[in-house]
Amino acid sequence: SNQTKRWQEMDAAHHLHPFTTHKDLATKGARVITHAEGVYLYDSEGKRMLDGMAGLWCVQVGYGREELAQAGYKALKELSYYNNFFQTTNQYAAELSDKLAEVCPKGIDRFFFANSGSEGNDSAVKIIRYYWNLMGKPDKKTIIARKKSYHGVTLAAASLSGLTHLHPQADLPLPGFVHVECPDWFAEGGDMTPEEYGLKAAHSLEEKILELGADNVAAFVAEPVQGAGGLIIPPKGYWEEIQRICRKYDVLLHIDEVICGFGRTGQWFGSDTFGIEPDMINMAKGLSSGYQPLAAVGLGKRVGDVIFNSDEEWSHGFTYSGHPVACAVALANLEVIQKEKLVEKAGGATGAYFQKKLAELADHPLVGETRGVGLLGAIELVKDRKTRAKFDSATDAGTRCRNHCFSNGLVMRAIGDTMVLSPPLTITESEMDNLFGLARHCLDLTASEIGV
Ligand code: PLP
Repeated sequence: SNQTKRWQEMDAAHHLHPFTTHKDLATKGARVITHAEGVYLYDSEGKRMLDGMAGLWCVQVGYGREELAQAGYKALKELSYYNNFFQTTNQYAAELSDKLAEVCPKGIDRFFFANSGSEGNDSAVKIIRYYWNLMGKPDKKTIIARKKSYHGVTLAAASLSGLTHLHPQADLPLPGFVHVECPDWFAEGGDMTPEEYGLKAAHSLEEKILELGADNVAAFVAEPVQGAGGLIIPPKGYWEEIQRICRKYDVLLHIDEVICGFGRTGQWFGSDTFGIEPDMINMAKGLSSGYQPLAAVGLGKRVGDVIFNSDEEWSHGFTYSGHPVACAVALANLEVIQKEKLVEKAGGATGAYFQKKLAELADHPLVGETRGVGLLGAIELVKDRKTRAKFDSATDAGTRCRNHCFSNGLVMRAIGDTMVLSPPLTITESEMDNLFGLARHCLDLTASEIGV
């Protein structure tokens, strides 16, 4: 329509988009999403799409929830803004921190609020270094994260990230950030079993600590399930070994729960699902279901006690840390998650149905493996199902599949040739039937397009 065209022209002329090649955008015109309801998105031409990604892995409670809108409206009228600097707080930040202490992994009970997952991770890096300074060990500075990981885009968060395409444009990583192997068995495990490869990946952490000297290593940072880095699910034994190593060398364990938190893996946090006892966590996305920009860094007793008992002022914080409207919306979001038992459903019937339907795609000629946990799923597109050999990058199987999905009313993301799914936790069985029916149809279209 003319209206869509006008928006697309304004946008192409003036809007610098995240993670976008702008040269294409001007000719194609961006898709304009105008509203959303439940698990469905609608664009400005009235086309409906089933959102198999819950936005960017974040809309746990589905779109358009009245409860969250009302909570935001009430807070906006009551206290549109005030800060939490200099020994001030607001009722919503206080209540949200108390609520988080109830649902977070054992021992995590003090919270710093930020506005995005990236800011949360940057703040966590500063907390980690501040902790070791207060402990009289200022040399414990280096942070170890994993290859292929995604922890955000600000300078420290992008330095934590192991996806190498995030680095060269900004001359990253910063000094003091290094990366070790992730347990990506499907791509790199060769003839090993997933468990053997998981242990090998874990031992690369120990080797790196020994190489750097434990006195120089501050923390290990990782997601329970590596999300944007390829949906890499840790094999049995991996997290036990990582935790043994962190304890042995006195290295803090900071767990990035930005994707895994709030029911995604079938329990409240990925740490719960995989038996991880973190010193600190970072959360965002599902914390507010994306309705407001909000993140929180949660501290366990070890780090929390030291900072809370320090005589020094902590010199860090954002104008919008603990914004009353964002915290009010997050409280309403957590209330919906609890009232509708969305975590229990993701770990129970909904998750089981999702995993059953996902596994059914494993017989497709294009598919080398399906894997998942809770309401996370991945589908590996391969040239050879036996050897797990990938298509060459010119084939662009993932992008082709994603484009077929878009055209057919399904949002399924491609990470290289790994197709990923992370729908709202509210998704029903009939919506899942629709999702997986569309997914199979688009796999067929992709296969015939590339001649498999
Ligand atoms: N950490 C993880 C694990 C993420 O998946 C993301 C975003 O996808 C981030 C951090 C960064 O969050 P944000 O985009 O809110 O800055």
